[in-house]
Amino acid sequence: MVSEENPVCSAKGCRVDAVWVLAWNNPKLHAPERRKTWLACEEHREHLSQFLGVRGFLKDVVKLADWEEPPAV
Ligand SMILES: [Zn+2]
Repeated sequence: MVSEENPVCSAKGCRVDAVWVLAWNNPKLHAPERRKTWLACEEHREHLSQFLGVRGFLKDVVKLADWEEPPAV
């Protein structure tokens, strides 16, 4: 459950309302079905996706409005 009413972007220093959810997983740290999430505004979506993408962590990018928290594992 997301309890914050206005989730903000996860980028450092950014206080803009988040629009995107980046779902990611670090196979060295997390079970394969586990999803960590970052939030991103329009401006930082690409930057954060690239950061995760080059490491092979990025699994999904979903509009915040369409995001459903996966069931807790
Ligand atoms: Zn941002």
